[in-house]
Amino acid sequence: MNKLTDQLIFEVSRPGRRAYSLPTNDVETVSLEGIVPTHLIRQKAAELPEVSELQLMRHYTNLSNKNFGLETGFYPLGSCTMKYNPKVNEDIARYSGFANIHPLQSPETTQGALELLYDLQEYLKAVSGMDAVSLQPAAGAQGEWTALLLFKQYHEQNGDGQTRRKILIPDSAHGTNPATAAICGFEIVEIKSNEDGTVSVDALKEVVGPDTAGMMMTNPNTLGLFEQNIKQIAEIVHEAGGLMYCDGANSNAILGLSQPSTMGFDAVHFNLHKTFSTPHGGGGPGSGPVAVKEFLRPYLPVPHIEKEDDKYVLNSNYPQTIGRVKGYFGNFGVNVRAYAYIRSMGPDGLRQVSEDAILNANYLKARLEPYYDTPYPQVCKHEFVLSGTRQKKLGANTKDMAKRLLDYGFYAPTVYFPLIVAEALMIEPTETEAKETLDAFADAMIEIAQTAEENPALLNEAPHSTPVKRLDETTAARKPIVKFER
Ligand SMILES: *Cc1c(COP(=O)(O)O)cnc(C)c1O
Repeated sequence: MNKLTDQLIFEVSRPGRRAYSLPTNDVETVSLEGIVPTHLIRQKAAELPEVSELQLMRHYTNLSNKNFGLETGFYPLGSCTMKYNPKVNEDIARYSGFANIHPLQSPETTQGALELLYDLQEYLKAVSGMDAVSLQPAAGAQGEWTALLLFKQYHEQNGDGQTRRKILIPDSAHGTNPATAAICGFEIVEIKSNEDGTVSVDALKEVVGPDTAGMMMTNPNTLGLFEQNIKQIAEIVHEAGGLMYCDGANSNAILGLSQPSTMGFDAVHFNLHKTFSTPHGGGGPGSGPVAVKEFLRPYLPVPHIEKEDDKYVLNSNYPQTIGRVKGYFGNFGVNVRAYAYIRSMGPDGLRQVSEDAILNANYLKARLEPYYDTPYPQVCKHEFVLSGTRQKKLGANTKDMAKRLLDYGFYAPTVYFPLIVAEALMIEPTETEAKETLDAFADAMIEIAQTAEENPALLNEAPHSTPVKRLDETTAARKPIVKFER
């Protein structure tokens, strides 16, 4: 890194330098006076950086080189399924027939796009075992929200809307679950987990009842463990008149191996941007379709994309619908990518995705177990959770170890989540990583565990090799400096 590449573009700037050359203006210059309100007319030129085209190019290329992404290195961020996004998906999403159509075009002129969406719904039905799908929700959290609105509508139609006010949620759940239930106006009842990390059936029996609207579960759960009692849990909730919701963010562990429908769920959301390999991170766009059992179909968002003879149509004739949850057809481009991914993998390929994801996670877990506390030693699914308590006692906590991983060129795992594990390190390698990459990561984690014993101070001050060293996160959040001062 030399001085030039570390400079801000404002520091590189010199008055009068330009990255463009436009032809001379041959039309009359028009004054804004009388057209734009006076207080909105700029009195002096904007203070934009003035640089040459080459300086501009270098600035942004160097900036992007400082970014860490899936395509620069291993990204084992638990729960987020940071798998490789094949480039063929990108090519297909950019086909002009998909990229240049307008969502308000009449269905007669967009039959191909509607066919793709219809087929994607069919694939998601096959994967989940459910009967109907809406592609509208733009993210996992919006899928959760859509499904809980369906539950609410179902209870209201049954005259139970006033009494069924409670949603049961395990203490290992992702934060979006209680947030979703709260936003839908439900009361949240937390269910304790057993010592082995799965939901306690006894704790469930104590709280389930006529006021239960439903239960939100993740399977495999956020500890990467398959809920052994899932069928019994679903029976208990159903017997009490409640509905079962599956947070499907962990579907990467069960493709072709198990289905939310057979587990007893009534609705599930998918994170196409996780499981079905469309790029994510940085806030979107995503896609969080919901799949439901037949009895919930009438409440799904409209319009439904349906097939009549050999034509694809938009059907809004569902009087009990919860209405629209997103403009047009959801995030269409994300849906195209997921479709391309599913088509290129095929059913056998998708099953192998999950088998390899599970194998990779268990391999890494086996290599790290001797060096880190492993609160849940049983065989895991696509991810697992370690605890940094042993190292914390030596003077280096989980945050220190996560920061140190950056020095080795790895993205850090998810840390301090799930909340029920002290000093949690949640690791999800995904199926797309080679054994050599997993080994290099394991070697780094083992070295870090040794550093915690020999020289914890080195960890406390990490990272040492990144362009920006350890930040004071509180000050950065409370008093951010976001403006360059000369
Ligand atoms: C990612 C995730 C969500 C939320 O999905 P978004 O698409 O980020 O809104 C919900 N639950 C679990 C378990 C997740 O991993």
